[in-house]
Amino acid sequence: MASLSLKNVGKTYPNGFVAVKNFNLDIADKEFIIFVGPSGCGKSTTLRMIAGLEEITSGELWIGNTMVNDVEPKDRDIAMVFQSYALYPHMSVYDNMAFGLKLRKTPKEKVDKLVHEAAKILDIEHLLDRKPKALSGGQRQRVAMGRAIVRNPKVFLMDEPLSNLDAKLRVQMRIEISKLHQRLESTIIYVTHDQTEALTLGTRIVVMKDGVMQQVATPIDLYTKPCNLFVAGFIGSPQMNFIDCKVVRDEEGIKLAFGSYAVKLPESKAEKLVEGGYIDKEVIMGIRPEDIKDEEIFINAGSSNVLDATVRVYEMLGAEVFLYFSVEGHDITVRVNPRTTARPGDTIKIALDTSKIHIFDKDTETTIT
Ligand code: ATP
Repeated sequence: MASLSLKNVGKTYPNGFVAVKNFNLDIADKEFIIFVGPSGCGKSTTLRMIAGLEEITSGELWIGNTMVNDVEPKDRDIAMVFQSYALYPHMSVYDNMAFGLKLRKTPKEKVDKLVHEAAKILDIEHLLDRKPKALSGGQRQRVAMGRAIVRNPKVFLMDEPLSNLDAKLRVQMRIEISKLHQRLESTIIYVTHDQTEALTLGTRIVVMKDGVMQQVATPIDLYTKPCNLFVAGFIGSPQMNFIDCKVVRDEEGIKLAFGSYAVKLPESKAEKLVEGGYIDKEVIMGIRPEDIKDEEIFINAGSSNVLDATVRVYEMLGAEVFLYFSVEGHDITVRVNPRTTARPGDTIKIALDTSKIHIFDKDTETTIT
């Protein structure tokens, strides 16, 4: 069993800088946990504390039933894969993978068996005699993974392992790592600043900002139910549209007003605003690019959710097309029907799917509904 528990874990560096604050997380056996967040948010520091490479300055780290704060890295039964593969250049792939086992005085036959098994899983058996310099980036990354796998650790820690690869290889290796997780049935904690990697790999994702955990959730919950403005903006590409609005009430119901528009809200969202005392207050409306429609079937003339939008930029990404609009000075991105004929300068009607609107408190930036 490789469950982990971080209880109020914190890190203050010797220079007084607080890199991680009150980090609480229970990780179940076999989970694939992602730490994601902008540069400097404390992801690597947290990972390195789990590895034992960085001292924990407050709180407790448990692996299984043992508190490991003072346990040496080599005794934590953890293997770490870094973004720089750190392979020994003078050693063959085989020796690179066998190195850690030999240090632990593992019998020769066992080393041989473990290296060949790992090489098979990673499809690098034919490369075992080569030196690292005769490998591509992706192959080197596999060897680095292989070196971790042979140790059969309880927990794998990976710090941006794909960041040195080109875009195509990254996608390939992402799929490989996903398969590896299913195959090894191990617990993986993976650091990335790439939200696509986070959404596609993680069973749960931890979003961090300024050393503070913002939200921990499954990919779908994180995407559909962000807990605050930061998470809503960080997860999703192109990012969620945000518009400053005022909550107003008229004979038709509760509306979000901006410019000359007042978008009527569905009952459940309206209730939350009334309950929270937001009538006549400023809030932030959020809506994702795919929750705004440009197709005629969605556009009922006269409906409060229909806006006149002027195309600024047309962006074709193969299967997807994004239009960047201006609506009374507000920038709005929409994922449109790829057959759209709208081009820069055109003004067309777009409709907000009001059931998908997110509303944030303007002061605390937390999600209201
Ligand atoms: P990145 O994505 O850029 O790697 P990160 O989220 O992994 O960022 P960390 O490397 O954990 O961030 O660093 C968190 C903060 O702690 C940063 O502001 C960094 O400058 C600071 N920091 C890291 N190491 C030290 C150190 N030895 N002494 C003081 N501050 C440090």
